[in-house]
Amino acid sequence: MRKRIVAGNWKMNKTPSEAALLIGELIPLVNNDNVDVVFCVPAIDIPCAVELTKDTNIRIGAQNMYFEDKGAFTGEIAPDMLKDAGAEYVIIGHSERRQYFAETDETVNKKVLKAFEYGLKPIICCGETLTQREQGITIEWVCMQIKIALLGLTPEQIADVIIAYEPIWAIGTGKVATKEQAQEVCAAIRGCVREIAGDAAADAMRIQYGGSVTGDSAPDLFAMEDIDGGLVGGASLKPDFGRIVNA
Ligand code: PEP
Repeated sequence: MRKRIVAGNWKMNKTPSEAALLIGELIPLVNNDNVDVVFCVPAIDIPCAVELTKDTNIRIGAQNMYFEDKGAFTGEIAPDMLKDAGAEYVIIGHSERRQYFAETDETVNKKVLKAFEYGLKPIICCGETLTQREQGITIEWVCMQIKIALLGLTPEQIADVIIAYEPIWAIGTGKVATKEQAQEVCAAIRGCVREIAGDAAADAMRIQYGGSVTGDSAPDLFAMEDIDGGLVGGASLKPDFGRIVNA
């Protein structure tokens, strides 16, 4: 049985003092030990988020990191900085990073390898554009993204990865994929992992759906066989996140 995992991607929202208020509001709403609950907060909020959640079931994650250890990379954040601040997870390759900050499958792979070096759990994002879906190449595209992201990892590491399948047309648009559309791609991702890393890794690896999930859509999506939780943007900043966690 795979433990469910629901992660909130706060994106570029909430100053440290605003984050403290929101965390205080959400703690009682997401108190469910059957689910791994992760808040992926802006880097500047990590220390206060770690402090405020230390006696709770919530774990803290970052939204990005660089793939080098340290050095002359102005503005970047190193994996040991995240680790030392108390982050346990890191989102890698979110479509907004790919679209606005020129991330590629290759940089995603470098970051995933580096996250493992420092004991951070990567949440690797993949997903197709509307054009790719309309052209019928969704599964091919997503499996290619995943194969490149996982290059050089051992099957044991792959078992510990979290993949977030996030159709780009569903992110922040209010258009949720149907449970059948989401299940089809998540099953294909698991199949592709089975080919490259074997049954044990494929059966253990957790796959999230992301894209306009709300408390109303979460129960149907999370009931699907290959969907082990969600990566949630907009709704992670609202009390609705509690309904999603408990779905
Ligand atoms: C996301 O940012 O990963 C996301 C899924 O956003 P939203 O839930 O707002 O679509």
